[in-house]
Amino acid sequence: LTVGVLAETAAGERRVALDPSAADRLTKAGRVVLVESGAGTDATFEDAAYTAAGAILTPRTQIIAKSTIIPVMRFPDAELLKALRSGQVLIGLIDPMNNLTAIADLATRGVTVVALELLPRTLSRAQSMDALSSQSSAAGYRAGIVAAAAYARYLPMMITAAGTATPAKAIVIGTGVAGLQAIGTLKRLGAVVTGYDVRAASRGEVESLGAKFLTSSVAQGAGAGGYARAMTDAEKKTQQGELARALVDFDIIITTAKVPGRTPPELVSAATLKSLRAGSVCVDLGSSDKGGNVSGSVDGKTTVTAEGVTVIGAGELASGLPASASQMYARNVLAVIASLAPKNVIMVDQTDEVTQNVVVSFDGAITNASVRNALK
Ligand code: NAD
Repeated sequence: LTVGVLAETAAGERRVALDPSAADRLTKAGRVVLVESGAGTDATFEDAAYTAAGAILTPRTQIIAKSTIIPVMRFPDAELLKALRSGQVLIGLIDPMNNLTAIADLATRGVTVVALELLPRTLSRAQSMDALSSQSSAAGYRAGIVAAAAYARYLPMMITAAGTATPAKAIVIGTGVAGLQAIGTLKRLGAVVTGYDVRAASRGEVESLGAKFLTSSVAQGAGAGGYARAMTDAEKKTQQGELARALVDFDIIITTAKVPGRTPPELVSAATLKSLRAGSVCVDLGSSDKGGNVSGSVDGKTTVTAEGVTVIGAGELASGLPASASQMYARNVLAVIASLAPKNVIMVDQTDEVTQNVVVSFDGAITNASVRNALK
């Protein structure tokens, strides 16, 4: 069984889907690992670390031709998509609901597509495969660092001979995996932190980190799979009004609110941005090509408003912590490989709950029910 490790091609992507320590585990278990030269360089993993782990440096086209399993960070580029063939297994955070046509084509060509976003995350057996959590965790931690670096003042209270600095007031909107990590980082840096979520159930997690909890009058129980459900238009209006009034008081705003498969809710409006103090910083983890949680945020770009507020579009912030994020991701990939190929062949057990969800296509057909419905 051959596993191929390719350099990621998306602009700004610094992670790699398999790090040398995961390669080492695979080769020790008798698998062949082929690596494209430079695949891990941006994540600080040199070619020599892979070859020391028993992997074989191989040209990209040959890796694509020879590998049974190809783990990737993101949806493949056109060249890789075109080259994939029957019997190969593509594993990654491939955003299936936004790539339906290409996935239908891969299915027809007999490619097995594994979309890590579709993992039933609350099942304990799935937790070692939970790449959304590992990457959200890296992104959330990094968001705290990025916010602090962009903020022109101290985060902690400083009492010095030259005077006293008041601590920064930070709010993290959306207290899922990323949000809780952002709160932890900002607390460690000394800011006074508030966590805000529409899931009332997250209060305990936020308070256990020593942050205050704020919620909305339209706070809700969690929807399917523990996620926030999409709000009605009237609920959104109420929530946004309440939030806008609260936000004027904060120096740092980190937003992490996503609702799976949908455009992210706008939580910091243009009017709210205008009301913030000059020097305030917004880091938008919800940013994507479909918009973000902060009005006008552009994914991958930093902008400064006319009022002097810095807005950082940071939809792929885990890539800013490439070594740790790749290492965690590779552990998730290893767990998926162990589940799909416990011996030296791929076995897709369609009675298994994890497999039913995470395997989108197999044997020429779309096997995941929600992707099949979306394609109708
Ligand atoms: P996510 O990335 O989908 O969303 C981030 C947060 O934004 C969530 O807390 C969500 O409630 C919140 N949010 C959504 N819309 C919002 C709005 N309009 N205003 C304010 N907040 C909004 O979340 P996630 O990190 O994937 O976590 C989702 C849930 O799944 C959480 O309850 C988390 O604890 C749970 N989870 C459980 C496991 C497990 O059981 N092993 C693993 C991962 C996540």
